[in-house]
Amino acid sequence: MVKESKDIKLQNELTNEFKNAWSALDSEQTKEVFKFADEYKGFLDRGKTERECALDILDYAKKCGFVDINDLIKKGTKIKPGIKVYALNRGKAIALFVVGKKNIDKGMNIVGSHIDSPRIDLKANPLYEDCDMAFFKTHYYGGIKKYQWATIPLALHGVVIDGKGNKKNVVIGEDPGDPVLYITDLLPHLAKDQNDKKLSEAIKGEDLNVLCGSIPYGGDEVKNKVKLNILKILNEKYGICEIDFTRAELEIVPAGKARDVGLDRALISAYGHDDRVCTFAGLKGILELENPDRTAVLYCADKEEIGSVGNTGAQSDFFANTVAELIALQSEYSDLLLKRAFNKSKSLSADVCAPHDPNYPSVTEKNNTGHIGKGLQITKFTGARGKAGSNDANAEFVAEVTRLFTQKDVVWQIGEMGKVDQGGGGTIAYILANANADVVDCGVPVLSMHAPYEVISKVDLFMAYKGYKEFLKLDF
Ligand code: MN
Ligand code: MN
Repeated sequence: MVKESKDIKLQNELTNEFKNAWSALDSEQTKEVFKFADEYKGFLDRGKTERECALDILDYAKKCGFVDINDLIKKGTKIKPGIKVYALNRGKAIALFVVGKKNIDKGMNIVGSHIDSPRIDLKANPLYEDCDMAFFKTHYYGGIKKYQWATIPLALHGVVIDGKGNKKNVVIGEDPGDPVLYITDLLPHLAKDQNDKKLSEAIKGEDLNVLCGSIPYGGDEVKNKVKLNILKILNEKYGICEIDFTRAELEIVPAGKARDVGLDRALISAYGHDDRVCTFAGLKGILELENPDRTAVLYCADKEEIGSVGNTGAQSDFFANTVAELIALQSEYSDLLLKRAFNKSKSLSADVCAPHDPNYPSVTEKNNTGHIGKGLQITKFTGARGKAGSNDANAEFVAEVTRLFTQKDVVWQIGEMGKVDQGGGGTIAYILANANADVVDCGVPVLSMHAPYEVISKVDLFMAYKGYKEFLKLDF
C-alpha cells in the first residue's frame, strides 16, 4: 500500500490532466455561474448585429462611469489614473479603457474580441417578386454552411439611411408578435438531384433568397404587386422606399432568443456566441476594474469574420489612433511613446475556439483540442497547413498567463483547432502581434461554430470572465 501511494504521488507530480471545471465549483459558485449566464443570454438577445452589440456595450460602460474620449479631447481634459474612457468607432466597434497608475507608454493589458458574427446580408437592390412571392436577394457574410440557414425562422436587423440622411433602425422578427423571414429548401420527395450534390453545393450562395411576402397589392394597373405590397408595408413602418436599400446595412440573422441546453442547463444555444461570448466575459471583467496598475483595455472589433478589414475592423488604425489620443491627454504625445505603449502591451486575443465534438471525432486530436466544460482555452497557435498565418505565442508569455490563471483558480485548458492539415482558422491575434505586443489566443470553446445556433458551456463562459478579469488587472 505504501508503494502505491508513492506511485500515485509521482503520477500527480509528473503528469497533467485538464479537469472538468464544474467539478472545481462549490454550490455557491455554481449558482454564480448560472446567474452570470442568465445575464449573458440577455446580452445576446439585445445584440444580434455588431451595431446593436456595440450600443449595448456602450450602455453598460456609461452606467459604470465610462466617458467619451471625444468629450475629453474637445475639452482638453487631462486624464488621471483610474479614469474610465470609451471610444466608439462608427457605432460598430468599441474600445473601453481603464487608465492605469502607470503611464500608458508602460504598456496596456488588452483583451481583444470581435462583435460581428456570420450572417446573411441583403444585397443593395434586394427586393424582387417571382411567382407571386416576394424575396430578398442576399450575399452571405463570413464563413457559413449555407444549407444550415434554410427552413429556420429568420429576423431582419440593421439600418437604412433615407434620402435626407436620416437613419432608421430596423428590427423585424424578434418580438413574439412579429412575422419572421424564411429561406426555403427542397422537400425530400423531389431532392434526388440535390441529395447527390456535395453538401457545400446543395444550397448555393445565390440560392439564399429570403421569402418575405405573398399578398398582391390591390390596384389593377401596377405590376409586381406582391413586391409593391412589401414596399408599402416597409414604407408605413419605416418611411423607406426601394432606393433606400442602396444605402442600408440589413442583416438576416436567426430569429429568437438564447436558450438553455441540456436537462441540467449546463449549456446555452444561441446565435452569435462567436465572438460575443468572449466579448461579454471581457466586458464584465473590465467593468469591475478599479484603479489598475497598468491601463486595461477591452477592444471589441468589427469585421473579424471577413478578415478584420475595413475601418471598423481590427486592422484599422482606429485603435492605435485612440491610444495616441489617450497618450496626448496623459502627457505629451510622441510616436515613440505610442510605439512603447504597444511594445510593452500584453494581450489576450479573446476569440472562440473549436472543441472536440464526440459526434465528429475524426477532425480533432483529443489530446490537443479543447473540451466543452474544461474551462477557458488557450490556443498557442492557430493557422493552417504548418501553422501558416498563425500568431504562435511565445512560451514565456503563455507561462505568464497560465501561471496567473492557476494562481487565481481560473480553470483553463490548452488546445489547437483541429487535426494537422484538417483546416484551420485565424483571429485578430496577429494584428496585435504586428504592433509588437505579446499576445495569445484565449477563449471559449463553441460547438457548431458559425451555425445559426451555436452552443457553449456556462462554466467555460464563467472561467473566461474570471480569466480576463484577472489578466486585465495584472501588473506585469
Ligand atoms: Mn471569432
Ligand atoms: Mn468566427
